[in-house]
Amino acid sequence: METNSRVSDLLQAIKNGRHRIGEIEFRANNSNDRFVICHHADTERSQAPDHGGLEIHHGPEDSRRLSLYAEDGSYRFLKAQRNLRSGWLMLLESPADLKLALDQFYPAALGLWLAHRRETLEIEHLRQKLDRQSGMYRRAKMLTDEQAQSLVPATCAAAPGCARRILWQISPDQPLAAGPASSATGIADRVPPDEAIPLLCAAPCNHFIAECLATAKKQPPPPPSAP
Ligand code: SF4
Repeated sequence: METNSRVSDLLQAIKNGRHRIGEIEFRANNSNDRFVICHHADTERSQAPDHGGLEIHHGPEDSRRLSLYAEDGSYRFLKAQRNLRSGWLMLLESPADLKLALDQFYPAALGLWLAHRRETLEIEHLRQKLDRQSGMYRRAKMLTDEQAQSLVPATCAAAPGCARRILWQISPDQPLAAGPASSATGIADRVPPDEAIPLLCAAPCNHFIAECLATAKKQPPPPPSAP
């Protein structure tokens, strides 16, 4: 089953030295059957006696709640926003629970990374995604290439920033002006690449498409075609 194989892949990644995904640090006990996760800024505290006074959570159930709001109480409308709150630690009793917890913080991230490694990941470029828009989003197709290029840093990299590394382009033959690193590396806090599971962005997200629509709407609609 896919879930079991993903859990095995995650365990293998840990054995190979990976300990970070996005802003989360994870580690296993010696027999690789119990795990601790926390915000990477709390790594040292989490290893202190009594876990340095961090708020303790048992099991993966609280992951969704912890991922919803930033430190300042603002809603995290993107799961990969770089403003995950710190000050907590989660104890997980099995590899399956670890996967469940990480999936709540960073949905699909593990699967995207594995598919990318196996060269089976399908990338959807911006024009392809815009061409599929219908209803009120149809007008997003009017976005110019120049506007699209500007929207990438303005939307993906603007504070607090999205931690995903963009793999898509404007179109198959038009790369992003600043290259794939124009938004982020996909790895929080600059740990060596072989110590992290990167967060990848294989297609513009709904937030980005909404920004495309808002920008496209600022220009006058095209004149009606001649009868
Ligand atoms: S398009 Fe990708 S990189 Fe940009 S904000 Fe959305 S998920 Fe993040």
